Amino acid sequence: MTMDDEKHLRRAIELAVGARASGDAPFGSLLVGPDGAVLAEDHNTVLRDGDITAHPELKLARWAAHKLAPETAAGTTMYTSCQPCGMCQGAIERSGLGRVVFALSNEQLGELKRTVTTTTPILDGPALYDEASAAVAGYYV
Ligand SMILES: [Zn+2]
Repeated sequence: MTMDDEKHLRRAIELAVGARASGDAPFGSLLVGPDGAVLAEDHNTVLRDGDITAHPELKLARWAAHKLAPETAAGTTMYTSCQPCGMCQGAIERSGLGRVVFALSNEQLGELKRTVTTTTPILDGPALYDEASAAVAGYYV
C-alpha cells in the first residue's frame, strides 16, 4: 500500500463520514484512473433511494462499465471504505476494474455491527439443462 493509496482510502472514508452525516449508511468509494486522477466518487444511498443495491461500489462499477473502455477500466483502482460485499464484488468483476483497495474488512465491519441481518436464500438448481442450454448455445463464440 502506497502513500497515494492511503490518500485515496482516506477520501473514501471521508465520503463514508459524509454519507452518515446526511442520513445514509456510512460507506464511500472512489475510482481512480491509471494516471492517479479521480474519475468518480459516490457513497451509499440505500436509505435515501430506497434501493438495496445503492452501494457505492456497485454504482461505480456500473459507471465504469458504461463510461470506460475495457482497457481503461482494467487500469483503474477502486478505493472503498469497506470491503465490497458479495453483490458489489460480482459487479466489480463484471465491470473489469483492475484493483480494489479497502479500509475495513467485512469481518471488521461485522464486529462493529450490533446485529447481523444477513439471510441466505435457498439456491435450487441446476435443472432443465436441455432447455436452458439451448437458449445459450452458440451465443458465446
Ligand atoms: Zn456492496
